[in-house]
Amino acid sequence: MIYMDCAATTPTDPLVLEEMLPYFSEKFGNASSATRLGSAGKQAIRTARERAAALIGALPEEIFFTSGGTESDNWALRLGVRAGKSGRHIIVSAVEHPAVLRTAEDLAREGYRLTVLPVDAEGTVLPETLRSAMCEDTVLVSVMTANNEVGTIEPIRELAQIAHEGGALFHTDAVQAFGQIPLIASELGADLLSASAHKIFGPKGTGLLYVKKGVRLDAFLTGGGQERGRRSGTENVPGIVGFGKACALAAQRMEEAIRVKRSLRELFWEHLLTENPHVLVSGSRENRLPGNVHICLPGIEGETLLILLDQKGICASSGSACSAGALEPSHVLTAMGRKAIEAKGSLRLTFSEHNTAEEVLEVCELIRVQTARLRELSLPYEEYCKHV
Ligand SMILES: *Cc1c(COP(=O)(O)O)cnc(C)c1O
Repeated sequence: MIYMDCAATTPTDPLVLEEMLPYFSEKFGNASSATRLGSAGKQAIRTARERAAALIGALPEEIFFTSGGTESDNWALRLGVRAGKSGRHIIVSAVEHPAVLRTAEDLAREGYRLTVLPVDAEGTVLPETLRSAMCEDTVLVSVMTANNEVGTIEPIRELAQIAHEGGALFHTDAVQAFGQIPLIASELGADLLSASAHKIFGPKGTGLLYVKKGVRLDAFLTGGGQERGRRSGTENVPGIVGFGKACALAAQRMEEAIRVKRSLRELFWEHLLTENPHVLVSGSRENRLPGNVHICLPGIEGETLLILLDQKGICASSGSACSAGALEPSHVLTAMGRKAIEAKGSLRLTFSEHNTAEEVLEVCELIRVQTARLRELSLPYEEYCKHV
């Protein structure tokens, strides 16, 4: 199998799994209990918190473990609106993950005014756009650090600064950037930042919310008072331990991983763009996640190409795993101004440092053959060619 869908999830690294295993068996204690068994878990969580904090230059007490990126986003939005000044206006970008978009829409149904910021053709939220959307009563702005479909990296520092000038809190969904590119929380300027373990070779069902020191964010889950009263529920010790290890590995491997992924990406562009007519690169060629390739092949159904690739043992994505099955064009591509015929032919390949040049060449060749085949039968493609 060739796995090129790392933006959807990654396998748990064997070193991560090895550190987790004892916390399922002999070290099964409840980390909140005062027993020796419990204190092993407590100590392990402390180490994990330090490792996660170190990865983004944060303080350990700014890290709160959750059940994943989705929970962190929900917490940040649903309680972030009440954590700062009072007001009823929130701003999110049009290219957010559904965990942010759907939550923002929920808040709108509860009476908040919601502004959804447009993006440019590369999927970038332009700072001027945010500046002109800010209102007297804007309480929260949420823009993702890097987009999960097209890989575009957003200008978070400038955006956070604009939000702060208007007195609003700033949240960033950093799930795709955390552990993948260098991020320093204090330099980014975000008040709240979401991350998830399973996108960086950690286990599924574990995430974190960074809450900048001084930001008074209320608890989302109430109960036994774990995570210093901010996130109740018996700690998922194995998951947290695994997340901590994944953070430590990411810190150690990041520089080399970026180099490898960039070179695979460049090799991919070089072949794909010369071998196929009418390929559209989505997002910026430069300002994007190192392991992300996203293209649109007008005249084919991305989903059909995916099935053909899957039959050959290649795991890729059309871009939006969360709305898979729905043949609606992606909200991200639509926001970037892609025509429906272009957006429907979308294909996302997300590499890790474990992929190889041979794999990239094999996948390029398959895409070339299958795309030509699918287009031969495609009336929309004939039509498209007449107009470009
Ligand atoms: C995967 C992802 C999420 C959801 O994280 P989970 O841990 O799977 O809940 C949120 N935002 C982005 C950008 C993602 O890529």
